[in-house]
Amino acid sequence: MKIGLIGLGIMGTPMANNLLKAGYDLTVNDLEEARVRALVAAGAKAASNEEIGESCDVVLTMLPNSPHVKTVMLGENGVAQHMKAGTTFIDMSSINPQASKEIAEVLKGLGIEMLDAPVSGGEPKAVDGTLAFMVGGKKEVFDKFEPLLKAMGSSVTYCGEVGAGNTTKLANQIIVACNIRALAEAFVLAQKAGVDPHLVLQAIQGGLAGSTVMNAKGPMMLEGDDKPGFKIDLHIKDLNNALECAHSVGAPVPMTASVQEVLQWLHNHGCGQSDHSAIAKYYEHLADI
Ligand code: NAD
Repeated sequence: MKIGLIGLGIMGTPMANNLLKAGYDLTVNDLEEARVRALVAAGAKAASNEEIGESCDVVLTMLPNSPHVKTVMLGENGVAQHMKAGTTFIDMSSINPQASKEIAEVLKGLGIEMLDAPVSGGEPKAVDGTLAFMVGGKKEVFDKFEPLLKAMGSSVTYCGEVGAGNTTKLANQIIVACNIRALAEAFVLAQKAGVDPHLVLQAIQGGLAGSTVMNAKGPMMLEGDDKPGFKIDLHIKDLNNALECAHSVGAPVPMTASVQEVLQWLHNHGCGQSDHSAIAKYYEHLADI
């Protein structure tokens, strides 16, 4: 089985490395040549998006958002028009579920199956191959490609028809954003009240408030380590998609709207490319720390 992967950023590169380690025949592409060269040195082949479409049985993408996936797949000279009927497209990017459905509909007309398979876990789990996949599409297509996804993740969950993977990912992103914000709020409260936030983190890590988010992002926040990780601009993208989805289905999302505004404030103050743990800067600014 020939696999193509387009998008070798913070996530795509380690995921590609895990496909190579699992022995898959992998061809890659990215706008940034240095990222392609690094994967070729690790054993992948390099090709244009067009060549990937022509030669691969399965095309994977790990791109920023809906417009990128739509352009790469369906734009002028897009990958889809080069793929053969009977091949499969698996989008692992976090995009709007409505966009997943629209892409799948076009691909259906070309005889190409599609799964939307976004992930959670961030760079460390992408490196370890322990990502959590949330997958939408036909169950028989999911069953066929579950082993491929297991080369990159330790948890692979079938969520329903196309779009269900990205709807699940929106739920994930709401929970992560609200958690990170709560962490920043709590640490700044402790600091203003004269308790060392490092001790607060240590004290509550093993209790009910402890979480994967706290373990991953708490220390970064306290050390002022803004290196992404997961960029604030990407989290704003996810929350905008969540707000759009919520409005279209009539779901109440006041916490999402509020945390989106906080992240937007950070973007407006030059922190869009910082890790989302930089949300602490918003509170430090307000608290005059
Ligand atoms: P990134 O910005 O680091 O990487 C995106 C890559 O796509 C870049 O290397 C860019 O050059 C490439 N690209 C863009 N347009 C392209 C095109 N037309 N052809 C080829 N390559 C193209 O982003 P990332 O952090 O790797 O995130 C990718 C996706 O995964 C996003 O949807 C994000 O929300 C999601 N995600 C990220 C994390 C994380 O912690 N970083 C965790 C889970 C999910």
